[in-house]
Amino acid sequence: MASESSNNVLNLTPDQLKAKFKELGIEAYRADQVLDWIYEKGVYDFSKMTNLSLPLREKLPTVLSIQMPEQVARHKSDGDQSTKLLLKLANGDTVETVYMPMPKVDRQTVCVSTQVGCKFHCAFCASGQNGFFRNLKMGEIIAQVLLARDLSKNKKLTNIVFMGIGEPLDNYPELLKTIRTLNSKNAFGIGARKITISTCGVVPKIEALSDEGLQVELSVSLHGPNDTVRGAVMPVNQAYPVRMLIDTCKKYVKKTKRSITFEYILIKGVNAGEREARELTRLLKGMLCKINLIPYNPIEEFPHVAPSYEEVVNFQQILQEGGIRTTVRFSKGQDIQAACGQLRSIGLKKK
Ligand code: SF4
Repeated sequence: MASESSNNVLNLTPDQLKAKFKELGIEAYRADQVLDWIYEKGVYDFSKMTNLSLPLREKLPTVLSIQMPEQVARHKSDGDQSTKLLLKLANGDTVETVYMPMPKVDRQTVCVSTQVGCKFHCAFCASGQNGFFRNLKMGEIIAQVLLARDLSKNKKLTNIVFMGIGEPLDNYPELLKTIRTLNSKNAFGIGARKITISTCGVVPKIEALSDEGLQVELSVSLHGPNDTVRGAVMPVNQAYPVRMLIDTCKKYVKKTKRSITFEYILIKGVNAGEREARELTRLLKGMLCKINLIPYNPIEEFPHVAPSYEEVVNFQQILQEGGIRTTVRFSKGQDIQAACGQLRSIGLKKK
């Protein structure tokens, strides 16, 4: 069995798989058949792909592999039906993935991880607590989506959010390749507008993304209206301060003509007061954007608490009165530690 990651079919975009088959002297339509088995039928074993000839079924495992992670644990939320998967990758590293069905609106969303650990150490997030280990390959991200699709009981996945463990823009080449595969009619066929990239604000990569011509949704973690407040919860603010980030976001909106969503986790006594709400209103005034307010999700290592319901509503009202489109998002999967900032990973070796 071929085992190197370059031979993992899930590391190849559909076009790359077709090129690989050509290189191996196998007819191109056979690649379409393999893609259909994987992405439509959920079959990850060449020997079970019954419309391939027997000699081909025997040959493929000698030159290619389909590497699916091992499901180490699965937790289903009692409250909202979200399911969190703990997955063990081929080298033993673990990551988490969350499947979030919303049957009333026929929406099936998957939240995927892009790195093992994270180097950005945001003060409200468990994902980077053990440090950064490595970037995931496309195949390791795609496998998360496939396993979530298998949980959906044949319901088509509608939305993908890159909001799991890691900073997606810090794994830029694999992120773009993954988006192409998610888009491809030969794979998931999920439109770019249904794909959300969430970033802590890596300015040079936001600039690069604005040149890609992708119609993806961009979600930027803000969490503070000035350098003092934001810097206290997001160390990345030292490299990319608030003014630089907002200027870059404005350029992104101008170039792509797409709105940006700012995520703002409300932490009592840190960033959730009336003063911060008014400053935030001034900062974003006139910009094509929306704010998602997320009351803080408890994590045992951190002392933070969420503001009261009344304080959240008051914060929202100040923004709305200032003309900023604002929603309050109560995270899904809190009871299974699958909500924003609660996902974790364990890596093998620290870099
Ligand atoms: S919020 Fe995102 S960027 Fe910040 S530590 Fe968590 S995973 Fe990393």
